[in-house]
Formats: sequence, structure tokens, C-alpha cells
Amino acid sequence: MTVRFVIIGGGPAGNQAATYAARLGAKVTVIERDIVGGAAHLWDCIPSKTMIATGGAMSFSRRIGGMGLEQNEPEVDIELLKSRIEDIKALLHRNIVTLLESQRVRIVNGSARFTSPYSVRVDGLDGVEDIEFDAALIATGSRPRIPDWCEPDGDRILTTRDCYPPKVLPTSVTVIGSGVTGVEFVHMFSSFGSNVTLVVSRQQVLPGKDPEVAAVLEDDFLKRGVKLLKGARAIAIDRDADEVVIRCDDGRVVRSSHAVLAIGSVPNTDGLDLDKAEVEVDASGHIPINHHCITNQHHIYAAGDISGKLPLSSVAAMQGRKVAEHVMGLHTVEHRHLDYDKAASAIFTEPEIADVGLAEAEAFAVGRKIRVTKVPFATTAKALINNDPRGFIKIISDPATGEVLGGSIVGRHAAELISVIALAVTANLRVSDIVESLLVHPALCEALAEAAE
Ligand SMILES: Cc1cc2nc3c(=O)[nH]c(=O)nc-3n(C[C@H](O)[C@H](O)[C@H](O)COP(=O)(O)OP(=O)(O)OC[C@H]3O[C@@H](n4cnc5c(N)ncnc54)[C@H](O)[C@@H]3O)c2cc1C
Repeated sequence: MTVRFVIIGGGPAGNQAATYAARLGAKVTVIERDIVGGAAHLWDCIPSKTMIATGGAMSFSRRIGGMGLEQNEPEVDIELLKSRIEDIKALLHRNIVTLLESQRVRIVNGSARFTSPYSVRVDGLDGVEDIEFDAALIATGSRPRIPDWCEPDGDRILTTRDCYPPKVLPTSVTVIGSGVTGVEFVHMFSSFGSNVTLVVSRQQVLPGKDPEVAAVLEDDFLKRGVKLLKGARAIAIDRDADEVVIRCDDGRVVRSSHAVLAIGSVPNTDGLDLDKAEVEVDASGHIPINHHCITNQHHIYAAGDISGKLPLSSVAAMQGRKVAEHVMGLHTVEHRHLDYDKAASAIFTEPEIADVGLAEAEAFAVGRKIRVTKVPFATTAKALINNDPRGFIKIISDPATGEVLGGSIVGRHAAELISVIALAVTANLRVSDIVESLLVHPALCEALAEAAE
């Protein structure tokens, strides 16, 4: 019997599950109220990284003086930047639609809600449609969290979604929230030449990250003139003519032309009528899942941001793939459980930051013996050739067996270089496996081999 598999949400979790399950023989329907590609393509990863790439080109152009070139300050053309973002989004969207259609996946445009544990209703542009299923995946993602003390106006008080690009480049901007998204926006706007203030609720940007890693970033921010307001929580934001006034809980007040909220996200569970499917939701609005991404209903899965695991596109896509395997009964053969502790992640600042696996602080907290080796990029020929000696590679291994347990990289191409350590962590490789690989010269990965020595 052909499995009727319905997927709500066409982001990375939904579209990966769809293509893979269809390839395995399921009859797949994806219901999407916006565009397939999801928030990841429309609002998050793709537009933010496109803006950051342009900002990065600008800040690189400020450093080319040391490379035997004459330095000229480039200017941003907001309309050109906007069309570049739209072109990239459109191309990626077309690629996904083509892939889904080539696998005979049916895409239904509309908003879905459950009507029973085995059916959904779609309110679409073409009317209402009821669809029955044998298995369903909830992959509805998340949206920016808006606190009750602030009302974004899309003009000067912005959520991240209002920034691709903003109507005008801010002369000054206050970013509220110093997690991954917050620091990426600080980097982005300061590269474009805005005066940036970052409200940091703790004493360190990127709370929870390796303090040594966070220190490199803070140092770079300070060198660029970014003001760090540490130990302050924003409690009110108001407009005052052409300015935004941000008040903090310790009495400090910041004025800037714009403010950007980057204080996390909330899951899109509302409106799904999950009670009709008898699917449980936790207090934060996420849908609890087991290691196969199954909810409390044996035939209903949840993946991506909605599942409350790591809110990363890469994780959502891998969960989607695992769901497809389970729906099609492949989990009994060669199934590897997803190990969220081994997910690599990156922060697209300058310098770039990436890490994977066990962190020093975590090992310390559980009293685990580790070996930590750190090599600065400045020791490699390629960093000097690139005119960018910032950052380092750190590898964490088991002192007894040499097994690679984790690592962090700060510096140019960190997001690419971390793949080597991620592979080593996933495949239980040893530091000697990295040392004995014949790597390229001159290249930044030589610091990897040296750190593994
Ligand atoms: C600013 C920012 C930058 C980011 N950058 C990165 C990055 O560089 N790398 C990375 O790995 N992650 C990044 N992330 C995180 C990443 O965007 C998310 O983890 C990812 O989008 C989650 O994918 P998803 O499939 O769960 O959902 P989404 O991508 O959110 O897609 C969910 C889809 O479901 C649809 N939907 C919702 N409800 C319904 C309904 N009732 N009926 C029909 N359709 C519905 C929505 O329209 C949406 O298209 C970033 C996040 C932010 C906020």
C-alpha cells in the first residue's frame, strides 16, 4: 500500500522529508502557506547571509590597503542589494520547486490545520480542501519573539525580518540580544558603516559559548567602535521623532536611529488545531518528540524549529530526512540516531566562528579529562597571504584514546573548516587521522593538522 504522507510547512525540515520520502515511494503532499523553502529562505539564513556577504565585502575592502592595492570606500546601493537578495531567494525557490516536482510531490498553497488524527483541512487561495493521511509531519517552524514592551513598526523599530534590507541604512542602530542572531546583525550593520550599540543582558556576548571565542569577537567589535552595554536588559522601546529610545532595567538609556530585536523565536503551533489530532505541546509551545522525531501520536512527526531541538536549518533538514526514513520503514536498516550534541554550527560574524561537539566548559562541568590544543592562524602562511591573521583553531580530544571530541574555530572560513572536525567527531576519528591526512599548502587547514598534533 502506498503511504499517504502529508507535510505541513515547506522549510528545510518539510522539503527534505518530502523529497526523500517521495524518492522512497511515498505519495507526498506539502502544504505551505507562504513559499517552499520556508522562513529559512524567505527571512532567515539566506537573506541574512546575503546581507552579511555584502557587508563582509565592504569590510574586506577596508583592509585591502595592506595587499598592495589602492583603497577606495565602496558605497551601498540599497536597491541593488535588495534585488540581489530577491534574485538569490527566487533562484533557490525555483530549485526546490523543481526538485519537489521532479519527485512528484504535490505542493498545496494554503494554511493547514488538523481536523482529526488522520486528516487536515487546507484554507487555500483556491478554496478549502480536506486531505487524509497515513503519516504526517508538522514542520511549521518559528517566528521572531516580540516582547510585550515593544511594538515593532517596520520603520525604525525592527524585527530581523524587516532588515533585508531596511528601507534606509541606519546611521545608528541598537541591537537587542547578544545571541547568534544579535551578533550577526551587529557585524552586518557595523560593516555597512552604521554606529552600533549592542545590549548584552549578561557579561559576555554569545552566552553559553566558549569565553575565549566570545572574547575574540568582543575585541573585534570594540575595535570597530561597537558599544557593548553589558549586564543590561531592555525593558522599553519608544519612538521620539526620528529616534528610537531604548530603556534598560539598570536605568541606562540608549538613543539611535533604529533598533533591531534579536531576542529569540516562538514556535508556530498556533492555528494548527493540534488538539484535534491529539498532539501534545509543551509549555513553551514546542512539540515534544522522541529520537525518531515522533510526537505522542505514533504516526505524527515533528521536525525543525517546532520540535524545540537545535534551531538550525541544517538540523531541521537532517530531522526531515530521518522522518522520511522512519515513515518508509527504513529505520530498521542502518538507522543512525540523530545526535544533536554533534551538530556543527557557525556564526557568520567577522571573524567567523564555528564549533562542534564537546566544549571545554562542558567537559570541565562534568569533570571529564580532555586534551585541548590550540593553534593561532597567524602561524600559517595562508593567513598572512590573506592579510587576515585573526583567530585560532582549537581541538578537544580524549587524552587516553586520541578520539576527537569537539573543537572550535574563530577566523576566516571557520564555517567551512569546521567540517573536518565535525566529520572526525561523527565518525569517532582520532587526532592522528587528521595529522596523517595529506592536506593542501598553503591553506588555513594546515592549522587544523597542527592543532591535531
Ligand atoms: C535571522 C536568522 C538567521 C538564521 N541563519 C541561520 C543559518 O545561517 N544557518 C542555519 O542553519 N540556521 C539559521 N537560522 C535558523 C533557521 O532559519 C531555522 O532553524 C530553520 O528555518 C528551521 O526550519 P523549519 O523547517 O523548522 O521551518 P521554517 O524554515 O520556519 O519553515 C516553516 C514553514 O512552515 C510554514 N507554515 C507555518 N505554519 C503553517 C500552516 N499552518 N500551514 C502551512 N504552512 C505553514 C511557514 O510558512 C514556513 O514556510 C537563522 C534564523 C534566524 C532568525
